Amino acid sequence: MKHVGAHVSAGGGVQNAPENAHAIGAKAFALFTKNQRQWRAVPLTSENIDGFKENLEKFGFDINYVLPHDSYLINLGHPEAEGLQKSRDAFLDEMQRCEQLGIKLLNFHPGSHLSKIDPDKSLQRISESINLALDKTRGVTAVIENTAGQGTNLGFTFEQLAQIIEQVEDKERVGVCIDTCHAFVAGYDMRTRDTFDDTFGRLDSIVGLKYLKGLHLNDAKKELGSRVDRHESIGKGMLGIAPFAMIMNDPRFDHMPLILETPDETIWAEEIELLYSLVE
Ligand SMILES: [Zn+2]
Ligand SMILES: [Zn+2]
Repeated sequence: MKHVGAHVSAGGGVQNAPENAHAIGAKAFALFTKNQRQWRAVPLTSENIDGFKENLEKFGFDINYVLPHDSYLINLGHPEAEGLQKSRDAFLDEMQRCEQLGIKLLNFHPGSHLSKIDPDKSLQRISESINLALDKTRGVTAVIENTAGQGTNLGFTFEQLAQIIEQVEDKERVGVCIDTCHAFVAGYDMRTRDTFDDTFGRLDSIVGLKYLKGLHLNDAKKELGSRVDRHESIGKGMLGIAPFAMIMNDPRFDHMPLILETPDETIWAEEIELLYSLVE
């Protein structure tokens, strides 16, 4: 069985996210556990924490299908000491918030070298940043999202994802989330049976499917290999409906959150329905 949802609002507090997900017919969801555009966050209150847990239960969500996203400000591969430390502190705070909420996964964009250090060095810093956060937390897996490779962002090739994982000490608490839009614009085609199988076959041989903890389901506005990150509604972009039909009928994607980050949130309920209608 597939668990499809979307990145829903946690406005008014994280405890509101389960209801927002329920309202669109989701069986999984993503959220920000703090304001994603600010470095500082007020600590979660017991109202947030208890309310979140109560609402998960009330609206029938399994915690295994909750995949929060960290702040966009964080750069775990930052070339400069100050920026790196600020990012590591903020990332640890995000991991701890997940821990408090009982959430088992935290999705994040790996980082950027900003053309100031060697990409390999930046990748090494990302692994080290993950090690530091895992050391201070329990029960939360750091889930590295593949990127579109825009600008100096790392993590757009499966080799880079594997390289980060390679240097993570606790392999039980590291994973990857594949964003279909990012993969496509980074050069991984998946529009036909052959290209789909080739892409996910490569993911398996280079990274290992045992590390796959979730998918972000997004169509792409830009072309294959363009490395431009512009999401499109399902079936309305360059990917079209075919890859999503293959995903919905592939048991390799059972037991993980499948999250929409498509631009028109007014049609999320329809998109979720559309995705489930593809199941043969
Ligand atoms: Zn994504
Ligand atoms: Zn994106």
